[in-house]
Amino acid sequence: MLVAGAGKSGAGMRAHGGKKRKAYPYAWLDGRFVPLRDAGVPITTHALHYGTSVFEGVRAYWSGRQLYVFRLGDHVRRLRASGRHYRMSLPYTDGEIAAAVTGLCRRNRARESCYIRPFYFVGDYGINLHVTEAAPVRAAALLLPVGDLFDKGGISAGIVECRKFSDASTPTQAKMGGNYLNAIRATQQAKESSYDEAVMLDTGGGVSEAPGENIFVVKGDRLATPPASSSALMGITRASVLEFAAGLGCRPSERAITRRQLAAADEVFLTGTAAEITPVVSMDGRAVGAGRPGPVTKRIMKKYGEIVAGRDPGYARWLTPVYG
Ligand code: PMP
Repeated sequence: MLVAGAGKSGAGMRAHGGKKRKAYPYAWLDGRFVPLRDAGVPITTHALHYGTSVFEGVRAYWSGRQLYVFRLGDHVRRLRASGRHYRMSLPYTDGEIAAAVTGLCRRNRARESCYIRPFYFVGDYGINLHVTEAAPVRAAALLLPVGDLFDKGGISAGIVECRKFSDASTPTQAKMGGNYLNAIRATQQAKESSYDEAVMLDTGGGVSEAPGENIFVVKGDRLATPPASSSALMGITRASVLEFAAGLGCRPSERAITRRQLAAADEVFLTGTAAEITPVVSMDGRAVGAGRPGPVTKRIMKKYGEIVAGRDPGYARWLTPVYG
């Protein structure tokens, strides 16, 4: 979990290339814009002990003239829905959260593509594991200058031992801090095997997703991604691809994917707000297709880039302009 007030070193985010970039100077905490260095929380904060934080990752894209937040309404809805699984209620309306996100960009005078992290968490609640509507909830948002998370020329991925948790343990559709220990473990295992990214199987052994991205496989003109029943998070980038891919001559579908189907794919790519569309060019140490981004992946990357930058009027409804 990212905690506001990371001190002098600044809360940064290490993206592709390893360069650590500084966070913008203002954060939003409990309804107010405050200098990041003043946005601290006490060590009694429940979320620090038990992972009771709920977060979103949102991107805003600079078109050269305007900053567009991508699918802001959908991110705000998922932010609220995540907490409901744990009876945590976001003490702000959807409109207030959306205004906090766009206001944070304005307050920091952001005129470049950036990443916004709105989150809320259980505050001072002792050692009480009985989280109810009565638990105090605090909310915050950070703005980070994140470039490419991965090399868009293609990455290596491999199936790791660590399985994606299922709804039988904790709700897979809740973007909760605590859930990401599973993602951290999977990432450690991938890196220990020298892969750029992990692919996790669900508890039944089917393909689920990557630690912070959804996975798509391409076979001919068919495009498939695992459903919620494979314990995959219903990603917003995933939903976008499923919607616009049909217009690119692909036949997209949600279906269970086996390890064998993943290994036999013509192309594989990952989707996520941070990762955007990232081609996987090597899987489990073997080249995927020709070992470079394939034609379907490239078409999807190009269309996604046009949509987020406001260059496709057909998807203008997905964009919220920051500057009036
Ligand atoms: N799966 C997991 C586990 C994630 O954390 C994310 C990032 N939110 C995704 C998939 C991709 O979701 P989205 O496209 O909404 O960012």
